[in-house]
Amino acid sequence: MPTYARLPVMFDRGEGAWLWDKQGKRYLDAVAGVAVCSLGHAHPAVHEALCAQAGRLLHTSNLYQIELQEQLADELAQASGLDSAFFCNSGAEANEAAIKLARRYGHLRGIDKPALVVMEGSFHGRTLATLSATGNAKVQEGFGPLVEGFIRVPYDDLAAIEAVDHPDVVAILVEPIQGEGGVRIPGADYLPRLRQICDRRQWLLMLDEVQTGIGRTGMLFAFQHDAILPDVFTLAKALGNGVPIGACMARGIAAEMLTAGKHGSTFGGNPLACSAALAVLKTVRENHLAERAKTLGARIAADFRSQFVNNPHVVEVRAKGMMIGIELDRPCSELVAQALEEGLLINVTAEKTIRLLPPLILTDEEAQLLVSRLGALVSRYTAN
Ligand code: PLP
Repeated sequence: MPTYARLPVMFDRGEGAWLWDKQGKRYLDAVAGVAVCSLGHAHPAVHEALCAQAGRLLHTSNLYQIELQEQLADELAQASGLDSAFFCNSGAEANEAAIKLARRYGHLRGIDKPALVVMEGSFHGRTLATLSATGNAKVQEGFGPLVEGFIRVPYDDLAAIEAVDHPDVVAILVEPIQGEGGVRIPGADYLPRLRQICDRRQWLLMLDEVQTGIGRTGMLFAFQHDAILPDVFTLAKALGNGVPIGACMARGIAAEMLTAGKHGSTFGGNPLACSAALAVLKTVRENHLAERAKTLGARIAADFRSQFVNNPHVVEVRAKGMMIGIELDRPCSELVAQALEEGLLINVTAEKTIRLLPPLILTDEEAQLLVSRLGALVSRYTAN
């Protein structure tokens, strides 16, 4: 189906932060499969784990106990401070699990039509419930009727949430940083205050960490910058470094909602996917990749800021770890094809924001190359 407006390139192989196309041309990958390949391409630890597991056992189904799934759940629980995990295959599915969990929490509290507070500019996926939660009219257009039960407020606006006066609200679903929405980083007190509001109102605080999770922002999970615990958070993307896996993590009462028969997934948490995710977590931990994301991301952002200091068309450089946004004063999606020509993979989101999600294993030299190549492109683009 013509679902994607694909760029005219087909990649043949990858290694680290580099991809090669069919003609042998080399590209520096500053998108990493949209925040997926955080360990870069063809990482030996993932390669080895997958080959070993493929020769042993791929899949048995969730009818039976799965040792690697239990190990992965334990590791994620220990690393996050939450209690339990439900495994699936994508970010949208992880958020579906969170939405179902929140609704059930509402029903158990005697609320017949539970509602979730969601944000303008958010992105939570393309299934019917997650596109209904998503704050982007383009994503929803032509797919009505939408799933009901979402109350939308502006992002990074605590007063708007305080003003929600609706007895059916059971949870807030929010991204710690909006990725698709334009790399929007909320104020420092946003998540801690949301935590307080949720505690006071007995709402679940549910964080969509599908894009921010697994070291991307400089901590293993973005909420760890703030020393708070959500009741629920979701993961996918970088968890498998390219092997499809998603997770919905929960604690306390939220972890008790999805009991036997209430939810499920044929593939979710199968031995192959879990072997990849375990290799990813081990590699991120042993190589201190979250810390690396923090320092290198800050340096890249500082280099871009000094490069653009005299360019009035660059509105802002925003970054938390290796989640970097460069907002221009004009739509700039054409930059993607221009960068491709020059052997650089970038992304543009929210029309005017260049989004960089480089692999966390990027070297200092590769980071410099990214800054100089993209810096020159942006200067040329805004000069016209
Ligand atoms: N949530 C966030 C924050 C995302 O960025 C995305 C994908 O971009 C999703 C959910 C959906 O994930 P998937 O495409 O794996 O369903």
